[in-house]
Amino acid sequence: MKNPQSSPVIAGQGEPLQSAEDTSDTFRQLLEAAPDAIVVVDSTGLIVLANSMTEKNFGYRQDELVGQPIEILVPERFQHMHVSHRDGFFTKPSTRPMGSGIELTAQRKDGSEFPAEISISPLQTDKGLLVTAVVRDITERKQAQRQLQQHAAELERSNAELEQFAYVASHDLQEPLRIVASYSQLLARRYQDKLDSDANEFIDFIVDGASRMQILINDLLSYSRVGTRGQGFEPTDFNKVIESALQNLELSLEDKAATVTHDNMPTLMADRVQVMQLFQNLISNAIKFHGNAPPQIHLGVEKQADEFVFQVRDNGIGIDPQYAERIFLVFQRLHGKREYPGTGIGLAICKKIVERHGGRIWVESAPGEGSTFFFTIPLNAQEM
Ligand code: ADP
Repeated sequence: MKNPQSSPVIAGQGEPLQSAEDTSDTFRQLLEAAPDAIVVVDSTGLIVLANSMTEKNFGYRQDELVGQPIEILVPERFQHMHVSHRDGFFTKPSTRPMGSGIELTAQRKDGSEFPAEISISPLQTDKGLLVTAVVRDITERKQAQRQLQQHAAELERSNAELEQFAYVASHDLQEPLRIVASYSQLLARRYQDKLDSDANEFIDFIVDGASRMQILINDLLSYSRVGTRGQGFEPTDFNKVIESALQNLELSLEDKAATVTHDNMPTLMADRVQVMQLFQNLISNAIKFHGNAPPQIHLGVEKQADEFVFQVRDNGIGIDPQYAERIFLVFQRLHGKREYPGTGIGLAICKKIVERHGGRIWVESAPGEGSTFFFTIPLNAQEM
């Protein structure tokens, strides 16, 4: 070693420290190198040692601290409590590491305060029992926590507002739209062929537009109801859920000569009605977006560490991976409604249902290769 003085800690690369001097030197260097304030206190609560990080964080010189009660570093309003805690500790000393939940407010020499996390450990010495306290300034961490909490609360609020907005908008739009729809239908019935051919066409446009808008509004309403009108979670046998979904789809399954197979499914905490809707939407898409061959659909499941991964696999037209995320947004579709009927709400509802259960949903596919929709449900799903 070229310079033993400057790095006693790695003395001899693995050789143990020999003398008491070595040890105390090393101890001092360790103290000085520590990123936290370290204060050693005797059994009467007087400071016997403080490192330079203590000077820096608290604004006292070491010689101003040594000999003072440790409460000099504690705001006055907490001092009384601190003394009794300290006495308690000395009657039953044990190590309390960082992160074990001891958070206190520390006070600098100038009276300003900062949040601190403290770890304390007893130190048996020939001068009796001492206590080492490591004081970490957690101002930044606290600030980050507060910001995170604020963001989460804001997000929650704006989500709730949006949901409420979608609900109110779609609910209240229904009534005037019903009037437009029914009177335009009446107009069509009474005056069809009594006006000129242009008028016939215009009336048809109005009737068609109004009924499409009714479907869209209904879809929007069902979408917003996933969050506001869900049932509580209960143990749900996914085999039974799939059975009901298939019953509801019986006609279109027959119509397209589709076959559906499935793995044995688990029973999980879930909203039964919504999970049925989820499978129903995915299976009905798998039927709808079939290729030349009759639809073959498999519902699989795989248990992972703390969740089940479900899949709905088809042999249909497939999806270009560039649209893999877009299709889960409200009213986003990849085809004209003449090619394949629909409004583009189905997958958005699926996503909302899965997320309400604390899971994720995604698709893996390529055009012409069929699609596999995956979603997860946590083992102990709790309502989000
Ligand atoms: P909709 O079925 O009403 O169009 P969805 O939200 O259910 O609305 O689906 C959005 C789009 O995603 C569909 O228009 C379609 O382009 C694509 N898609 C969904 N499921 C499949 C599937 N199984 N195979 C191929 N494309 C699909």
